[in-house]
Amino acid sequence: MRLPEGAHHIGGAPYDDEEGPDQEVVDPSTGEVLWTYPAATPRTVDRAIGAAEAALPGWAAATPAQRSGVLHALAAELDRTAEELAQTETAQAGKPIRLSREFDVPGSVDNVAFFAGAARRLDGMAAAEWSGAHTSTVRREPVGVVGSIAPWNYPLQMAVWKVLPAIAAGNTVVLKPAETTPLTSLALAEACRRAGVPDGVVNVVNGPGPLTGEALVASPRIAMTSFTGSTAAGRHVAALAAANGTRLHLELGGKAPFVVFADADLDAAVRGAVAAALINSGQDCTAATRAYVHRSAYDSFVSGVADLMASVRLGPTRDEDTDQGPLASSRQRDRVAAMVEQAVADGARVVTGGRAPGGELAAGAYYEPTLLVDAAQRSAVVQSEVFGPVLAVLPFDTADEALALANDVPFGLAASAWTRDVFLAQRASRELAAGTVWINDHIPIVSEMPHGGTRGSGYGKDMSIYSFDEYTQLKHVMSDITGQAHKAWQDTVFRTR
Ligand code: NAD
Repeated sequence: MRLPEGAHHIGGAPYDDEEGPDQEVVDPSTGEVLWTYPAATPRTVDRAIGAAEAALPGWAAATPAQRSGVLHALAAELDRTAEELAQTETAQAGKPIRLSREFDVPGSVDNVAFFAGAARRLDGMAAAEWSGAHTSTVRREPVGVVGSIAPWNYPLQMAVWKVLPAIAAGNTVVLKPAETTPLTSLALAEACRRAGVPDGVVNVVNGPGPLTGEALVASPRIAMTSFTGSTAAGRHVAALAAANGTRLHLELGGKAPFVVFADADLDAAVRGAVAAALINSGQDCTAATRAYVHRSAYDSFVSGVADLMASVRLGPTRDEDTDQGPLASSRQRDRVAAMVEQAVADGARVVTGGRAPGGELAAGAYYEPTLLVDAAQRSAVVQSEVFGPVLAVLPFDTADEALALANDVPFGLAASAWTRDVFLAQRASRELAAGTVWINDHIPIVSEMPHGGTRGSGYGKDMSIYSFDEYTQLKHVMSDITGQAHKAWQDTVFRTR
C-alpha cells in the first residue's frame, strides 16, 4: 500500500490543513497506526467547495463523449492499480484480502466503467407539441456542486457510488469519506488526476462528521448533499440540509430479513444465510440479519448455520485463506459485543460465537461469527442495526406471519425470500418493504441496477441510470412555434381582439 501525499485533495492537488485536529488511520486487524493526518477545518472545506465551483462550468459544458472518455480512462487507471488499492483497503478497513481483490476493487472498477458509458445516455424526453402552439423539450442538467459523505464499511466502493453518477452527469463533487478510512478515496482522487479528470471536478476532504462533514453539509454553496451512513447521522444531516433547502439523497441503515419458506432448498438457504450474514464481517447495510424460518425447517436450518459458521476461518487479513477479518475498528467490535450481551439479557441464546477470539487475534478487532436464537421480535437485536457478524433466527408458521415479521422493523433496504413456489416468490417480492428483494439469493449487486432504501433506510438510488434522477434536474423548455405576436391564450389575461 502507498500513503497519500496530503490529507486532502483539492483542485487536483494534495492539500494539508495544519490547523485541523489529528486523526489516526488504524489497521483494525493489528491495532497498528498506519497514518496520522490533520482533519479538514471549515476553511479547508470552503476551499474545496471553491475548487468544485471553479471546475463546474467547464465540466458541465463538456460533451457526454468527452466526459465518457476520461471516465473510461479512470476505470483503466483504477484497474491498473487494483492490487495496490486492494492492499490499502484491506489495511485500513480490516477486510480479508480475498474480499478486497474479488469484490471491493473490481466492483468499483465496474461501477466506474458503467458510468463512463451511462454518461452518454443522459437523455431528456423526446420533443412534442403538447400545447399545439409550442415545441416542448426536456433538458436533463447537472445540479451543481455536490457534497458527498461516505461510510467506512466499503470505503472505495462507497466513494465510487457517490462520485461517479454525480460527475458522469456533469456535476462536480466534494467528497468526505469516513474519517477512519480516507486512504482509498484519496487514491481515487489521485487516479482521477492521472486519468485526465479536470482539476476540481473531484475533491476529497477528510475529517470527522461533526467538524468536516457538517461544514460541508451546512454550506449554502453546495447544491446537493448525498449521504451514505447510519440512520441517526443521516437524519441529523437532513436537518442541516433543510436549513438551506439543499437537495438531499440519503442511503441509510438496513436490517435485512431472510425469509425461508417451508419448501425452500435448505442447503442453499443455509449457505446463503451464512455468506450474507458474514460478508465484510456483517458490516454491510444489506447483510442478512434476521432469518425467519418455517417451523418445519427451523431445527435443521439452525444446526446447518451453526455448523457452517463454526467452519469459518478468522485470520490475518493479508492471508488468502482468511474468510472473516476483524470489525472495522475496536469501537465497532465493542458495539457489536454490547449488543449481543444485551440480546442475551433480553432472552436470546447464543448457539455459536458470541465472543471475541483470544490468542493471535486478540490484538485485532475480531468477533466470532454469531448465531442467536430465541430473540424476541421486539428486542433490540431484531429491531436495530448490529453491523457485525451476527444472525438471529426466528421461527414462523404461516406466510402471512413471515411477511409481517419481515416488515416489522423501521428499515427497508434489502430482503430475501427462499422458496421454490413461483407464486410465493412473486408475493414476497411484492410485499417485502425494501429497495432490493432477492429470490433464492442474498447480497449480489450489479452496476446496471439501482440500490437504495425506503422507510428508515432513506430514499434515492445509487448505481444504475436511475441514480441520474438524484444528480440531475429536469428543465422544461417551451418554444413558441406560431411566430404570432398575439397568442390565443393571452386573451384570457387581456382581451385585445
Ligand atoms: P455514520 O453515520 O457514523 O458515518 C457515515 C459518514 O457520515 C461518515 O463519513 C461520518 O464522518 C459522517 N458523519 C457522521 N456524523 C455526521 C454529521 N453530524 N454531519 C456530517 N457528517 C457526519 O455511519 P458509519 O458508521 O460510517 O457507517 C455505517 C452505516 O452506514 C450503517 O448504518 C450502514 O447501514 C450504513 N450504510 C448504508 C448503505 C446504503 O447504501 N444504504 C451503504 C453502506 C453503509
